[in-house]
Amino acid sequence: MTAVRVAYSCSYVPPEWISAYGLRPERLTVDCSAEAAAKDCAGLARLQGLCPYARAFAASVIAQQADAVIFTTLCDQMRRICELLPAEWAAKTFLLNVPRTWQSAGAFRFYKEELVRLGGFLETFGGRAPSSDDLAALMSAADNDRQECRTLAAESFSQADRSLKRLALTGGPITTDDSWLPGVVRQHSGLVVLDATETGDLGQPGPFDHRRLADDPFDELANAYFSIPHPARRPNDPFYAWLGENLAARQIQGIIIRRFTWCDTWAIEKNRMRERFSMPVVEVEACGGSGARARTHSRVQALMEAIH
Ligand code: SF4
Repeated sequence: MTAVRVAYSCSYVPPEWISAYGLRPERLTVDCSAEAAAKDCAGLARLQGLCPYARAFAASVIAQQADAVIFTTLCDQMRRICELLPAEWAAKTFLLNVPRTWQSAGAFRFYKEELVRLGGFLETFGGRAPSSDDLAALMSAADNDRQECRTLAAESFSQADRSLKRLALTGGPITTDDSWLPGVVRQHSGLVVLDATETGDLGQPGPFDHRRLADDPFDELANAYFSIPHPARRPNDPFYAWLGENLAARQIQGIIIRRFTWCDTWAIEKNRMRERFSMPVVEVEACGGSGARARTHSRVQALMEAIH
C-alpha cells in the first residue's frame, strides 16, 4: 500500500511525528516556476502580492497532488495562502498554530496541544497514534541521521580551500531555483560554509537529550522543535545567539541574506545583522528571475570586495 504523503514546509512541523503515525512526511523543495505553471488554477490566481515562496509552495502542493498538507501560523503569508487555497483542499489542509512568543510554559504547552491536534488530523488519513517506544525509536534514527550530516558538514568545512572567502547564507527557504547561487559565490572566490537558511541548519532541531527521550519521547520531540531559533519568534535573541555561535565556529567573513519580496521577517533582520556582526552583509533577491540574478552577481562581488 502506498503511504499517504503529507506535505509541509515549516521547520516547526516535526517529520518524526508524521512518520510515527505511519504516514510519509514530505518537506517540499519548492520550484519557483511551479507558480507560473499553476497560473491557470483558479485558487492561485488570487494569490498575487504575497511572498513568492509561499505562493510557489501552494502551487507545488497542488501540482504534486499531496494527500494532505500542513501550514503553520509562523508567518502571516503562509497563513493567508492556507486560507486562499482552492475549496477542494479544505479537508486535506491543517493549520498548525505556532506561538510567536516562546518563553512561557503556557506557550510550550500550547505547542504540544497543537501537535496532539495534528495527530488527530493524521488519524483522519488512516494514521495511528504511536506507542512511546515506536516514537522513541523513530526519533533516535532521525537524530542519528542528523548527527551524521553535521559530522559530514564539519569534515567538509575542515577540508575547505582556505584561499576562498568563507560565507554564511541565511534567509528564507532554499528552492530549486537557487542551484546556481553557489556557482556565483565560487566565481567570486567565495564558499558558502554555513547554510543558515530556514531549510538549512537553522531549521533543524538540536540533538535530542537521550535521557529525556527515554522518559517522555513526545515531550522531548516537542521541546527540540519548539526550541528552533527562527527569527520570526519574539523576542528573537536565540536566533542571534545561534547565528553568532555558528559564524564564529565556521570563521565566517561575510553574510548573504536571501529574501523573498514581501517577506517582512527577513527584511527586518538585515539591518539588525549589520549592527550585531562586524562583517559585511548583503541581501539578494530570491526567486526574482533573470534580473535578480544579474543583481545578485554584482552584490556578491561587492561583498567579496568588502571582505579583507
Ligand atoms: S520567506 Fe518569509 S514570507 Fe515567505 S513563507 Fe518564509 S517567512 Fe513567510
